[in-house]
Amino acid sequence: METEIPKVYSPENIEPRWAHFWVAQDLYRPADDTTSPHFCLVIPPPNITGSLHMGHMLEHTEIDILMRWHRMRGENVLWLPGTDHAAIATQMIVERELGRAALPALEGAQAKSAWQREGQRLRIEMGREKFLEQCWKWKEENGGTIRRQMERLGASVDWTRDRFTMDAAYTRSVQEVFIRLYEEGLIYRGQYIVNWCPRCGTAVSDLEVIHEDRPGHLWYIRYPFEDGQGHLTVATTRPETMLGDTAVAVNPADARYQSAQGRKIRLPLLGRIIPVVTDDFVDPKFGTGAVKVTPAHDANDYAISLRHHLPRVVVIDEHARMTADAGPAYQGLDRSEARAAVVRDLREQGWLEKIEDYPLSVGTCQRCKTVIEPLLSTQWFLKTQPLAEPAIQAVESGRVRVTPDNYKKIYLDWMNKIYDWCISRQLWWGHRIPAWYCDACGEVIVARQPPGKCRKCGNASLRADEDTLDTWFSSGLWPFATLGWPDETTDLFRFYPNTLMIMGFDILFFWGARMMMMGLKFMKDVPFRELYIHALVRDAERQKMSKTKGNVLDPLEVTEKYGTDAVRFALAISAAPGTDIAFSEDKVEAYRAFANKIWNAGRFILMNLQNLPEKPRAQLGQALQPIPGLGFEPMAAAEHLALADRWIFSRLAAVTREIEEALTEYRFHEAAFKIYHFFWHELCDWYVEWVKPEITRPAEAERISPAWINLGRVFEASLRLLHPFMPFITEELWHMLPQRSGGDSISLKDFRLVTERVADPISEKQFEKVQELVVTARNAKAEMALQKQKPSLQVAAEDLRLLEILRTHQETILRLAGMQAMHLTRGRLSADLPDVRSGASFDLRILHEEKVDYEAERARLQKEKQKLEQQLAQVRTQLANQDFLARAPRDIVRGAEHRLKELAEHLRKVSESLERLG
Ligand SMILES: [Zn+2]
Ligand SMILES: [Zn+2]
Repeated sequence: METEIPKVYSPENIEPRWAHFWVAQDLYRPADDTTSPHFCLVIPPPNITGSLHMGHMLEHTEIDILMRWHRMRGENVLWLPGTDHAAIATQMIVERELGRAALPALEGAQAKSAWQREGQRLRIEMGREKFLEQCWKWKEENGGTIRRQMERLGASVDWTRDRFTMDAAYTRSVQEVFIRLYEEGLIYRGQYIVNWCPRCGTAVSDLEVIHEDRPGHLWYIRYPFEDGQGHLTVATTRPETMLGDTAVAVNPADARYQSAQGRKIRLPLLGRIIPVVTDDFVDPKFGTGAVKVTPAHDANDYAISLRHHLPRVVVIDEHARMTADAGPAYQGLDRSEARAAVVRDLREQGWLEKIEDYPLSVGTCQRCKTVIEPLLSTQWFLKTQPLAEPAIQAVESGRVRVTPDNYKKIYLDWMNKIYDWCISRQLWWGHRIPAWYCDACGEVIVARQPPGKCRKCGNASLRADEDTLDTWFSSGLWPFATLGWPDETTDLFRFYPNTLMIMGFDILFFWGARMMMMGLKFMKDVPFRELYIHALVRDAERQKMSKTKGNVLDPLEVTEKYGTDAVRFALAISAAPGTDIAFSEDKVEAYRAFANKIWNAGRFILMNLQNLPEKPRAQLGQALQPIPGLGFEPMAAAEHLALADRWIFSRLAAVTREIEEALTEYRFHEAAFKIYHFFWHELCDWYVEWVKPEITRPAEAERISPAWINLGRVFEASLRLLHPFMPFITEELWHMLPQRSGGDSISLKDFRLVTERVADPISEKQFEKVQELVVTARNAKAEMALQKQKPSLQVAAEDLRLLEILRTHQETILRLAGMQAMHLTRGRLSADLPDVRSGASFDLRILHEEKVDYEAERARLQKEKQKLEQQLAQVRTQLANQDFLARAPRDIVRGAEHRLKELAEHLRKVSESLERLG
């Protein structure tokens, strides 16, 4: 144990070593066979395209704190890691890379979209198989980033169970779910208006459409009646879609349009004859109360067309260009060019009545920001209603507990008005839909294996479905597919339902709701017992972090600068449930200072420990082996230490309980604050200072002192409480304590080292009074500018017990307050005296340049001498009693012996003082 302990705390020298150690030792694989309770959380799988951002860092910090805590409570913990194939994002990146390779000379803002277009072209040119090879190659080269980062940040996951949503086993689960849902009639193929991204070339779900408020217009267009007798005026926000109109609709109750009912309209520009229909859906207050109906390009109009059997004319294609049905004047124009052309022609031909400003909510693609085009298209859908019902009940009944509580309502509101989910995507990277089409007879075959021929007509050339499944369809199976479903594995049996899920609000519907539905459907049980929704990490001004604002903090950069422990702690202490976090480097710096404090305290203790001879050091190693079930208790020590020992152990018990209570309720901020305050302001500021003379005293003894044992125990217990928050520094310091084996880890030790048996509220109260006295004296000294001097102190109190305690701890109090001597009197100090300061149960004043009242002082000392002689006699009698010596525990006897020595010493000092007074 003669190792040099570095003077300066350098996380860069500590953290990578332990990060490697934890993985290499395979410490976080749950035991195969255990009777301990299981605790399981499957990671919200980050996208393979990404690298960890501050949101991940918060999420992983919260998860890791809980995982380490539960593991240290003896539970069999599984934190299962993995990544998502992120269909649309990956496909875009691989396309762009192909484009970049083909057009290397391009640069600037235009380059990105040019590469994207070229890459898209190249993808189609090379074909599906070759393109997927490129995707897998990209995944091999870049997919490991997340894992490297998580390892570096100390996530205590089981890497032997690492999963990827496109692994063969996972793909099998996805296919199985699709087929079973199809066979039950819950998956169907149908024509519907979908959200189409013309840039990405795929349908996206409602959740992937981001609505933006933008200024827009309302165009009022005259639609003449076919017979030439008058017109109706319709209002629209998208004039170019009029080319696809197949009706005009009015509300049946609208008195203004009673006479229009049943008449026919001649559509301007195209001359198509269309009916006027009545529908309750029409809002008489919108525009003129007469609306155009474009079934192929608006979901509501599509619904009207079903009710009135109207034809659907597609005038905008999947590239957002006008089709032949839009008429020769507009065919081939982009949708925005078409708008300009249509408005110009309407104006020229006298059909445009007026234009008003009108604010719009525009749907854009979450992935590429392109304006979404509602498009009539044939897609695969999942009937969500029957799946949603049990998922609603599970939350309503509390079978899944949602924290913070308000998310329960948000979840239920959404689930109660859930629509069928469009699950097919026109992408190549993803899980291919297991469907085949017979063009000869129209049969659709959904099967586990490619069918050789049509089961109906025997046609052998079947066409495979080109589409893949929405990424969220596959990730919805994550809580059970990662554990081996559909096989009945031991993992499924042990770890399903998962104990807990932690995620951000942004994916509650995308993912949380889908996991609920799929889990209840296929496992007949909830996916997890608890759902905790974590907050967002914002900048210091509480603004969202974004690249455009330039206020993004990169967790790896910050970690590089301040150490992972400091970043983790800064996040944890800011993480109050339901409150977004204002995060900044200043904050991290503050907790880097805390890490320094821990290091310096540890170094101070360990350096002094190294000065002890071999034998007592080994004894301390022994004393730091907790008794199972009982943990640590303070060892009886000398009177002048005992109060501090009883106090710190009692505080330790309270803090341990408070941390556990806070973590149970996800109050990470509170748990972190408790250990921060305890370590810095109780352990370091008071306890270590209190026992300093005992542990810095040159070693002569062959036996370790109770003071050392108590300090060692408190330090060990504190490191364990800190470990879930700051795993690296605690592992490092823990290994420096005596008798630690290299392969062991603090992360596998008991979290709670003291039980409520050591709780001692009376000692806590007494110690608080002493603290108050020391602080009051220090402040008084500072206010009187006497810092450089060692003045004397006069203290008066009514409470005899307090006076007794102050007398017993006189030396320590004087040392901590920086004082020469203390004169104690019963009662209170007269308010007439100068500089009197009062605490809750005492008065004090600093005596400087003033003469002490010798007569009173002599009387006081005389009285004290008598009392000490009495006490001394008592202890002597006790130690002379053979019965006591034979029966009392060793600690008690040693305490009495120590007290005898102390009293004798005290008596000697008092007698000396009396002599000096004459
Ligand atoms: Zn897009
Ligand atoms: Zn057929």
